[in-house]
Amino acid sequence: MLSHNLGYPRVGSQRELKKASEQFWAGKITKDELQKTGREIRHRNWQLQNEAGIDLIPSNDFSLYDQVLDTSLMVGAIPERYQQLIDGKSNRELDLYFAMARGVQRDELDIKAMEMTKWFDTNYHYIVPEFVKSQEFNRYSDKVILEFEDAKQKGILTKPVLVGPVTFLVLGKEKEEGFSRISLLEKLLPVYIEILKELAERGAEWVQLDEPCLVLDLGKEEQEALKFAYQKIQQSVPNLKVLLATYFGALNTNLSLAANLSVAALHIDVTRGAESLPEILQNQEFVNSSKLLSIGIVDGRNIWKNNYQESLDFIHQASNVLGVDRILVAPSSSLLHSPHDLDLEHNEAVLTPEIKNWMAFAKQKLHEVSVLAKLAGTDYKSDEAFITNQKAIQSRRTSALIHKQNVKDRVNAIKEIDFERVSPFPTRQNIQLEKLKLPLFPSTTIGSFPQTDDVRQLRARLKKGTLSFEEYESRIEEEVISSILWQEELGIDVLVHGEFERNDMVEYFGERLSGFVFTENGWVQSYGSRCVKPPIIFGDVERPAPMTIRWSAFAQANSEKLVKGMLTGPVTILQWSFVRDDQPRKDTTFQIGLAIRDEVIDLEKAGIKVIQIDEPAIREGLPLRKSDWKTYLKWAVDAFRLSAAGVADQTQIHTHMCYSEFNDIIDSIAAMDADVITIETSRSQMELLDAFADFNYPNEIGPGVYDIHSPRVPTVEEIMTLLENALNVIPARNLWVNPDCGLKTRKWPETEAALRNMIAAANLLRESV
Ligand code: GLN
Ligand code: ZN
Repeated sequence: MLSHNLGYPRVGSQRELKKASEQFWAGKITKDELQKTGREIRHRNWQLQNEAGIDLIPSNDFSLYDQVLDTSLMVGAIPERYQQLIDGKSNRELDLYFAMARGVQRDELDIKAMEMTKWFDTNYHYIVPEFVKSQEFNRYSDKVILEFEDAKQKGILTKPVLVGPVTFLVLGKEKEEGFSRISLLEKLLPVYIEILKELAERGAEWVQLDEPCLVLDLGKEEQEALKFAYQKIQQSVPNLKVLLATYFGALNTNLSLAANLSVAALHIDVTRGAESLPEILQNQEFVNSSKLLSIGIVDGRNIWKNNYQESLDFIHQASNVLGVDRILVAPSSSLLHSPHDLDLEHNEAVLTPEIKNWMAFAKQKLHEVSVLAKLAGTDYKSDEAFITNQKAIQSRRTSALIHKQNVKDRVNAIKEIDFERVSPFPTRQNIQLEKLKLPLFPSTTIGSFPQTDDVRQLRARLKKGTLSFEEYESRIEEEVISSILWQEELGIDVLVHGEFERNDMVEYFGERLSGFVFTENGWVQSYGSRCVKPPIIFGDVERPAPMTIRWSAFAQANSEKLVKGMLTGPVTILQWSFVRDDQPRKDTTFQIGLAIRDEVIDLEKAGIKVIQIDEPAIREGLPLRKSDWKTYLKWAVDAFRLSAAGVADQTQIHTHMCYSEFNDIIDSIAAMDADVITIETSRSQMELLDAFADFNYPNEIGPGVYDIHSPRVPTVEEIMTLLENALNVIPARNLWVNPDCGLKTRKWPETEAALRNMIAAANLLRESV
């Protein structure tokens, strides 16, 4: 039984590529030095996979920025605005590449970057291909060939990986009207075929074409495109074996389509769509063909040790029907979404040996894949590796660190009434109007203020032990007090404490809740050179002590005005962490929801009258298939309501979301029943508020009146216009005035100038009505 891998993390275990890229962009190292770093990472990755005993090792899974952008460059899908950067010299390819990824602003040039969006339901972001009606494709970048040859020189015959042609088109965007991007397939295929032919000529036996679009709801056009593409490829390059990779979900409605495409092997993700396995094994055409089935059994997107017993059961289920020779063993998806190497976690105070023993990062997962391929079909039960694995699985299943009966009992005891505020919104609104005494069009901000180097230093020094806790607290107190005075002077109505004590809106809470651990080196690429180090939720979640009262109460004690408490919501905490795979996400979210609920109640007790629970990640948690949305939205909304509903009518609950696509989930947003919601809309001139207007959204709304992602200071007139637009669709009594999102990435001068203009606009608006 062969083992293979779909892709390996490419940032480097010490984030070497991140550092080199950023240095290159800053002009501190040369192109050659950057390329050298890339090459070293690739060589190390190939060697690692070789040593782990992986039979088919991928190439071209490496990327200097993003594999979808690599594909755009490979097929010459280079938008018009970058044409001036093409001068035929291969040493300029990199400039063009980074210009497409990041935009350019130098000399006379000012070209915008291509758009970026989430890669399926992961936290990885890809560069969205752009297509026009007269789109042509021409082979442009030879990266895939070069990397294949490079590995060959090292003695490794790799399996080159490419984003499949149909997924490439599906993930792109039409930049003008009047055509469908899928119809470009006929023009696109010849470029793919030319490259595949060359790979075959150079000795490639296998190639992996990633078509994860097969786990989405596909229309007729896309389905036909898939059939056409793979027939054509097989006819044109018959001597090359194509492994068609699907991942991130079950094949579901596309099962028989996928099972019968003209390819040599089909990869399915058994960790996120186990039902596809028995379905494939019942598909007679597939069974009667000579196709191989690649079983993606080691979770490429989480950090838990594989359960060998369960995996071997799956593998045997397949080999019983197809025979061992037709099975490949693999991770579920590329390991790009896992941190590099658990062996780099040395600090036992952070990650205790007991918990560490339950985990596997990318390097460990390679080993798991190769062990599973070896154990399958043998008398594995007496194998040392198997026994050790089962011990770890057993330890996790029963550990008192994970399982807290009181927490489970509390979740089980949740009743309908726990999701309900005392009175419905109209009653609450009247009570709040009377108690909070806010003016018409109240102004506020979203929570964080600029995180200066000074403030970051304070936290870093506290962590290192070079700053005492007392000193740290008094320095943060100074920051809070000065921000309060500053907000009062500006004339903001509902103040915030500024979040100076927070590193990150999820990490801060994870560090204060039980059931979370952190890593020192568990970085995962989010986009380009940006990496994140998600917390790991390993056990039942509880709040041992209040988490934010100290700073919120302190801030409120220093102002006559209202100071808003600031919390991260349960869905966002879940969504931005590695999660448990031993209980449904819903249960974990409800546990977090209860912890946040306790915090909300404690804030109220401490005299905080306005409390914001941020949920920017609700939308990104949406399942890939529409048919699964309803179930998800129900529990996600319930978890928010659970966290918010423990307070009296007069306590005003806010929520915040930094995106603006609400059309398809507006009923769920309304069901959250926050007294006030602040959202992003400024970039669309408030058009996106239409979703709220069409729905007759009843509660109060603060549509962001300026874009905090740019240092640009909006004028009073601009803000006025936006507010007037908003008033066309939102009743005056429901309208708030605030920026798009938190201000922590901004600098003080532009923040002050922008907020001054914002307040001036709010005042003008009050006078005008
Ligand atoms: N309260 C957070 C802040 O202001 C919200 C951040 C976010 O929405 N991502 O930083
Ligand atoms: Zn935001």
